[in-house]
Amino acid sequence: MTELTKILAEKFGFTSFRKGQEEIIQKVLNKENVLGIMPTGGGKSICYQLPALLFDGLTLVISPLISLMKDQVDSLNEMGIPATFINSSLSYVEINKRLNRAQNKKVKLLYVAPERLESEEFLHLLEEIQIDLLAVDEAHCISQWGHDFRPSYLKLNEMIQFLKQKPTVVALTATATQQVAQDISDLLTISKSNQINTGFARENLSFQVVKEQKDSYLIAYLKTNENQSGIIYATTRKEVERLYYLLKHNGFSVGMYHGGMDKNERAQSQEDFLFDRIQLIVATNAFGMGINKSNVRFVIHAQIPGNIESYYQEAGRAGRDGLASDAILLYAPQDLQIQHFFIEQSSLTNKFQQNEYEKLREMNQYAHTQMCLQCYILRYFGEQGQNCGKCSNCLDEREAVDVTVDTQKVLSCVKRMEERFGKTMVAKVLTGSKTQQVRDWHLDQLTTYGLMKEWSQKQISAFIDYLIAEQYLTLTKGEFPKVTVSAVGIEVLLKKRKVYRKQAPIKQLSIDDEL
Ligand code: ADP
Repeated sequence: MTELTKILAEKFGFTSFRKGQEEIIQKVLNKENVLGIMPTGGGKSICYQLPALLFDGLTLVISPLISLMKDQVDSLNEMGIPATFINSSLSYVEINKRLNRAQNKKVKLLYVAPERLESEEFLHLLEEIQIDLLAVDEAHCISQWGHDFRPSYLKLNEMIQFLKQKPTVVALTATATQQVAQDISDLLTISKSNQINTGFARENLSFQVVKEQKDSYLIAYLKTNENQSGIIYATTRKEVERLYYLLKHNGFSVGMYHGGMDKNERAQSQEDFLFDRIQLIVATNAFGMGINKSNVRFVIHAQIPGNIESYYQEAGRAGRDGLASDAILLYAPQDLQIQHFFIEQSSLTNKFQQNEYEKLREMNQYAHTQMCLQCYILRYFGEQGQNCGKCSNCLDEREAVDVTVDTQKVLSCVKRMEERFGKTMVAKVLTGSKTQQVRDWHLDQLTTYGLMKEWSQKQISAFIDYLIAEQYLTLTKGEFPKVTVSAVGIEVLLKKRKVYRKQAPIKQLSIDDEL
């Protein structure tokens, strides 16, 4: 047993380290800055809590979650580890008292919210304290390319410069694309070799995309999973309320949680769920940050979230105990409009708005790809995975149909439209729509006009989504993306490549039809 394992057992009651923990801790103890990327539930906290015990000075923990802070501090204190926190809920006198204890080395860990770093006065107070380790939790909040950028995190660098003695830095996150990891490393001076990524895969999760009628699917699913704990996410408060009443009406043990409810009601719902007094909670994404409930058996998204990072983080709240759990997305194309609206209304600069549209597109493609869903997510984070064997795509037993000819029709139509139009317009032309817009652009003159008139516009749209997800078509960036043919798509047009799709039978056009 190594020295570190001994401490882990004595202080935390665990017999062995989880993947990545020991490596990160070793580096921290060598006073090297390090970035740990570990999945939700992977055990990030130990990576700074254990070293905190071995350093002479203080470990300052930056954490954006006030509720989590208190929980963590309480459980550390229960284990006999002196820790405290500072946030806006405390009086000035109390804050000073706590800082004094830190200065006098009476506490090992001090948790603060990033907003504190905006205060000069606070930074001056920190100057008096020997900070040996700076732990940055939810470190993806540093990056504007991430999904949860918090400007106060940028102050971290200033703070480090401010301190007389530079602390070792350990940054931790569960979701970081390569770009985000780079931003974190740049700001906190972490070398590439000190980015420890234990992999994003959550082997106990079965991902599913469901395109059936939502309400009836949901009720049927919940009936077959009775007595199990689960979270149902919706995007808007209105939809949360609607689903809540629907489920209540159907006799389920359910609570709800959204930002429009008053604080006490919300706290009550959360507690009822945590302590298994209710089985289900319908919530907006305001729910769940910092919730450590291990026996959540399923997370269902009743509406598509805005990006893969948020989706994976929220879905990842299922199965923290390592047991098999479901992560289900109920997909309906109209839900994308809500996310579009959020982006449009956001105060982001144009560049970052475009980035958000791009992320939404990748999320949408998740619902259309036929590759393994876990692999799709891993690829998004720059990782390669093995087919999971249990997602709805891996389990899709429908025969793959040769759709090369249909694909060629779509691709050649896109080409004839000079790659200047969006998805809807391409679908209109292929179905032979007589709308004014089509005529105004003289698209009814194209040889591909009406070429797939047996299909509905909806079917063609879904097919185009599939071709985008499989990368035969590409969308240009921006709010109104245009459909273009990719290099792989060209190979299909040149008959060098065939396309297969698992699909419900759609009336096929005869092969002889003109392209
Ligand atoms: P994260 O912050 O990565 O989501 P936590 O640090 O909250 O995860 O840890 C998740 C759970 O795993 C906690 O209940 C924690 O006590 C437990 N845990 C952490 N490390 C170990 C370990 N080495 N062995 C067993 N359980 C662990």
